[in-house]
Amino acid sequence: MSFLSWRLHQHWLPVDSILQSRNLSLASKCVCCNQVESLQHVFFSNTVAANIWISFAEDFGFSSDPITSIHQAFKSWSLCCTTKGHVRQLIPVIILWVLWEARNKVIHEQRVYSFSSIRIRIENLIYYLGKAELLSYKHWKGDLMVAQRLHISVHKATRKPPTVLKLLKPPSGKLKVNTDGAFKDGLAGLGGMIRNEDGHCIAAIGRSTAGASPLHAELLAAAHILDWCQAQGYNNLIVETDCAIMRKMVINREQNRGADWLAKEALAQSSSFTWYPPIPNKLLRGILHLEAAGLPYIRG
Ligand SMILES: [Zn+2]
Repeated sequence: MSFLSWRLHQHWLPVDSILQSRNLSLASKCVCCNQVESLQHVFFSNTVAANIWISFAEDFGFSSDPITSIHQAFKSWSLCCTTKGHVRQLIPVIILWVLWEARNKVIHEQRVYSFSSIRIRIENLIYYLGKAELLSYKHWKGDLMVAQRLHISVHKATRKPPTVLKLLKPPSGKLKVNTDGAFKDGLAGLGGMIRNEDGHCIAAIGRSTAGASPLHAELLAAAHILDWCQAQGYNNLIVETDCAIMRKMVINREQNRGADWLAKEALAQSSSFTWYPPIPNKLLRGILHLEAAGLPYIRG
């Protein structure tokens, strides 16, 4: 994620300070204190976020200046590591993800915003990445002591036998949200599929925007679609994302076909759209029918 893309990102992430700068009247108050909510505040400078960055840096045995930008976060975390997919490259992504998730959970679900809950959530995500065998020995190279301290057993990756999956319908009264991102040549396609408790699609969203990487596109998709839902007043949500690093841990890719297709379509058309049933695209209708039928997919 380049600094430029982060700035672009900042201009549409709907934290209060940005909404205010667009002359929307709103009493700004962040989720952790009474300050104006800015991206800087949400991700870096609020006391909880600042301490999260410090505590994980300490776990990995380095101290860094207070993190003030995404650029700096990635830089200080990847300085001593070049292995692709190394846990040190994932940590800042996971921290940013969880900070944004925690902020949204306070707003949508009246959850408490605390250092310990955020810290535990991040540890759990790392733990599940290991469980899903997405983090193996080479990804922990040089940091095996940290894995031990976090109670993560690190072993050589083995391949799991194929599994048969069925599309899961959300429990009664909840909406299920699937998101996915696609990326190519500095452009990101964001896809989102909203389903009701019967598993029927109630909205299909595609967005085209600037992006820096496939992972960036995945994160943008999740953030954008959640904000869209909030704006619609949809707040009883089950969110499933296809974020590559969290795959298997959060959702099986086969259950994310609609969102995956939407992200690719928004990218290919370089356009943004929101569709409501009847869905105007034949292919997407087909995907929805397959999913509604509960047809199992085979994951190899
Ligand atoms: Zn605050």
